[in-house]
Amino acid sequence: MHIFHTISDLRAHLRAHRMLGQSIGFVPTMGALHEGHLSLIAASKAQNDLTVCSIFVNPIQFNNPDDLARYPRTLDVDCAMLAPAGCDVVFAPSAEEMYPEKALLKFDFGDLERVMEGQFRPGHFNGVGIVVAKLFNIVQPDRTYFGQKDLQQVAVVRRMMIDLGFQIELHPCPTLREADGLAMSSRNRNLTAEERPIAAHIFKGLTAAKTALLTGETAEMVKAQMATHFEQQPAFRLEYFEVVNAHTLQSVDKKQPDGQTALCIAAFLGKVRLIDNFVF
Ligand code: AMP
Repeated sequence: MHIFHTISDLRAHLRAHRMLGQSIGFVPTMGALHEGHLSLIAASKAQNDLTVCSIFVNPIQFNNPDDLARYPRTLDVDCAMLAPAGCDVVFAPSAEEMYPEKALLKFDFGDLERVMEGQFRPGHFNGVGIVVAKLFNIVQPDRTYFGQKDLQQVAVVRRMMIDLGFQIELHPCPTLREADGLAMSSRNRNLTAEERPIAAHIFKGLTAAKTALLTGETAEMVKAQMATHFEQQPAFRLEYFEVVNAHTLQSVDKKQPDGQTALCIAAFLGKVRLIDNFVF
């Protein structure tokens, strides 16, 4: 496995593979890797000659400086996981390498970013758009793999790829979970031993909400039930819970046709912000 820290070294390496006609799969991450990330690597390996994983904690997608400071950085451990997973190339640039000058471009994803993550993390999707577009231009992959755990991110990246004409296949991949249903996340390692079992209430709440919608309850009723569910868990602070159309991400009042309903949630457990979603 090759590890590169500069854009020019990575480009030279990938150019040689491209000249041989090899296909490139790309998995962008912020490191602190877990099985969920490795499932994206596996998906890429199954479809491409070469798999590239980037590890970059992108400062401009954090609207909260504490969140950025607390974000785990574990490059050596990450590389020790990626090599046996069969990743071929790791790109781990510094912030100076990625942003020698402050990016001036601003992305506005319209209604897609007026809700949920975009609403509660102003500027987040601008930062995501800039870093993903830049990484796409650097790596020039044939295919790219994103987790559906970040449903709104997938929607925003898909839109950016359409609007800017990126010729890359976007492959959304299912969310990997712990045994108690908690979605795997780099942030889970910041939970205390007391908080960790409580975190499963996100999954429990989503499961109950899905059942209620499937039995004909309205979104309004389900949202009220979710609010009550979290009131009974004082360690949690529910930031949002929305019932939305899985494509537009706009609120809906009841279950949509199959595959088009999404339940999206963000909640703080202590200092840790957790997000999750169900699509059905
Ligand atoms: P991150 O390092 O958190 O920016 O995540 C990098 C990629 O891994 C994103 O496309 C995420 O959606 C994806 N990802 C994060 N958690 C999971 C998970 N539990 N299952 C599958 N993919 C995930």
